[in-house]
Amino acid sequence: MCPNKEILSAFFDGEISNSASKKIEAHVDHCPKCREQIKQWERISSLLQPVRTEMDQEKVNQSWSLLLQRIKEKDEGTQKRAAVKPVPFYQWLAIGGTHNFF
Ligand SMILES: [Zn+2]
Repeated sequence: MCPNKEILSAFFDGEISNSASKKIEAHVDHCPKCREQIKQWERISSLLQPVRTEMDQEKVNQSWSLLLQRIKEKDEGTQKRAAVKPVPFYQWLAIGGTHNFF
């Protein structure tokens, strides 16, 4: 009989006692259905793996403060740019820019 999905996923996550895990392992060895389920989870977790391993805590903190810094710089940049914002085209038309231009 197959272990239910909760037990199987606990086994996959290594959250199950050693002796129980041995039993499930033996079952999975002989059960294509459960093996397929485990394989599916392995595929999913292997997709997630590079993200998990790259993001050790220090790097996360670093990139987080870097991100905050960038956001701050961007904000300041936007404010600066806003201060020297060129006159919008329609306003330029209204103040007679076209006359000088043509
Ligand atoms: Zn099974």
